Order: sequence, then structure tokens, then C-alpha cells
Amino acid sequence: MKSIRSIYKIGNGPSSSHTVGPYNAAKAFSARYPEADRFEVTLYGSLAFTGEGHGTGKAIMTVLPDAVIHFCKDAKDLPHPNTMLFEAFRDGEIIGRARIFSIGGGSIRFEGEQSDDEREVYPQKNFSEMIEYCRNRGISLTEFVWNAEGESLRPYLTEIWNAMESAVHAGLSASGILPGGLGVSRKAKTLYEKRCYNEDSSITQSRLLAAYAFAVSEENACEHVVVTAPTCGSCGVIPSLLYYLRHDRGFPLESILDGLAVAGLIGNVIRTNASISGAECGCQAEIGSACSMAAGAYASMLRMRLDQIEYAAEVAMEHNLGLTCDPIQGLVQIPCIERNSVAAMRAVSCVNLSHFLTETRKVSFDEVVATMYQTGKDMSDKYRETSHGGLAEIYGNKSRQTGNMT
Ligand code: SF4
Repeated sequence: MKSIRSIYKIGNGPSSSHTVGPYNAAKAFSARYPEADRFEVTLYGSLAFTGEGHGTGKAIMTVLPDAVIHFCKDAKDLPHPNTMLFEAFRDGEIIGRARIFSIGGGSIRFEGEQSDDEREVYPQKNFSEMIEYCRNRGISLTEFVWNAEGESLRPYLTEIWNAMESAVHAGLSASGILPGGLGVSRKAKTLYEKRCYNEDSSITQSRLLAAYAFAVSEENACEHVVVTAPTCGSCGVIPSLLYYLRHDRGFPLESILDGLAVAGLIGNVIRTNASISGAECGCQAEIGSACSMAAGAYASMLRMRLDQIEYAAEVAMEHNLGLTCDPIQGLVQIPCIERNSVAAMRAVSCVNLSHFLTETRKVSFDEVVATMYQTGKDMSDKYRETSHGGLAEIYGNKSRQTGNMT
């Protein structure tokens, strides 16, 4: 299994597959052809359907300002739902061409090649093998990650945490309407500042978790810098919970880094054995994964047992199974932003449940991951980041009827 570093990437939103991945692809491809004087890029599949709303062309043109971008919506039998064809020209002649896949979480792979993120770090294939390894040696999951990845992981995760904190701060201090034409207002600041009448501690906890998740997700919607965790669309869940634990519950920085390590491991298991891509398996692969990662991280930070950590992560995924991806107008706003806050709150509930119910569990984490993958494969294309079904379709129809389509 790969390094957990491939889970966390700092980049501009709003979509790890649609902006961070294509941005990285443009950088990697152009570096191979420094002599090129012109580039063309053809986007296929999900990138063609929702790339305009997600700003895929803009992300590519950040690297290749004069590139000609084509959106090909009718290609069949694609090797990957997020396929891009890059072509380099010199004096009118083509000098290079490559199909590149945006494989989720901002990572890319050239067709027929192995990506840089694919360096093997963990010999274990799934979560059960990792738990067994830890049990046999009497070590925690946190120690397991640090031992496998080495000390160079610490500065990497520190940078990741700093970027997450910055995104929370930026989102909490901003107001106004998000770009894209849906007229969605920023809500993080209001959530953070406004208390309800007779607010008790449980409402305060939910309000703050929601505020932090909204803050980061709204930054993502504005195409500002966020951290994939494991994707841009789900980038608010883990920062929300960790920021709450750090700033409202006084958890030390070392504990936050430990939490990021365990969350990364869980995301890595999901990515390896299933998918973290909404285009491949729907929102269960993005928000479900983030919720599961956050729950496992929190349980490990509370120094819960290995089986309790596994239960928390499993329950968090199980109750996101079947969650569809249907962003209105291809923008990562509705339902995405609110969904991040709900997932952060749900992660806490899953950990709370695991205090009591772990001994009664029937389903393993690996089984729920396999179920998520199968469910995603069976899901209609309409619910896999094409904006052809669900909220995207119902809202689109309503807007067309009332003439409010933006
Ligand atoms: S609905 Fe979920 S998977 Fe789809 S763009 Fe939004 S956050 Fe990502």
C-alpha cells in the first residue's frame, strides 16, 4: 500500500479530480515537452460533463495559459471516468501525446505508467492485516504509521495541518456570495458567531463543527487553497473535527498530527481497495471516506482500542453507503458544503457509539469498504459526478420551469 502522503494534497479547489488533478497533469505533461509552443487538451467523461462548473479548464490554463481545451462528452469505453488527452505541438507538428487519468484526491497517472504516489510503503493489503500486525506487536495504529513512514512524515503532516488551519481561518472571516451563479451565501461566519437561545454544550459542539466544515468547504467553492482529505469536495470534514479538538478541546499539536496519520491510513485503505473518487463511486467514496477517516482519527486520539477504532471507522462508512454525487450545476456547493458539516458531526456520533457497541459488531471495516466499492460500481452514471441526476436534475428542471436557471 502507498504512503498516506498521497491522500493529503494542498491545492486550489473546488475538486481534487477536476482541478488539482488536471493542474498536476498539465504540470507533469508540459515538463516532458519544454520545447513545445502549443498545447491542446481534450477532457472526457466526468471531466467533460462537469469540468466547466468545476473550473477544470481554468486549472489547466494556470499552467498552460494558451492551451486549447476541448470538452468531449460522447466518448464511450473510457479507460477511466476522468480521462484527459494532452497533446504538445512544435511549429504546427505534434511532438507528444499522452492520456492522463485524474485518479482521485488530486493524484494522476499517465496511461501505461506508475504514478509517483504509487511507491509501496505498507506490505499489508487491507485494514484487517494492519490491525493484526499492531495486535501482534502491541503497538497502536499511530505508532504503526510513524514506524512505516519514518520521521519525514512529521514535517509533511505539519504543513498539511497548517494549510487546514489556514483554510478554517480564511473561511470563518469571509462573507458574501459564492461564485458560480447559484446565489449560495457563505454561512461559516454566522454559524461561528451566532448562538441560539438556551444553547447547551451539545448544540455548541455541533454548531462549531458545522462552522469549521462550512469554512473550509466555502473556501474550496471559491477555488481557494484547501487540502484534499481525501478530496476537495470532502475537504471540510477532517479539518472541522481536528480544529474543534485543537482549539475548543485543547488537544495538543502532536495529537492532531497523530490523528492525521490514522485518518490518512484509513483513507489509504479505502483508496487502495475501493475508491475515493465521486466520479467512480459517488459521494459515498468522498464524504463517506472523509467521515470514516475522521471517526477513526478521533477514536485513536482518544486512545481507544484497535477494535473500537475500526468500529468507529466502519460505522461512519456504513451509514454513508449509497450516497450519490449530484452537485447542482456541477458546482461543489449544493449538496457538498452542508454535507461536509453533517459528516463531521456524524463522525463524532460514530465514535460515541463505539464506546458501547464495539463488542456487538458484525461487519468489519474491510467488508464495508468492499460494499462501498460494489455499490459505487452498481450506481447509475447519473449519480457519479455527471450532474445528470438527483438534486442536479431536479433543481435544474425546476429552474428551467421558473426561468431561474443561472
Ligand atoms: S456531491 Fe459529494 S462527491 Fe459529488 S462533488 Fe459534492 S462532495 Fe464531491
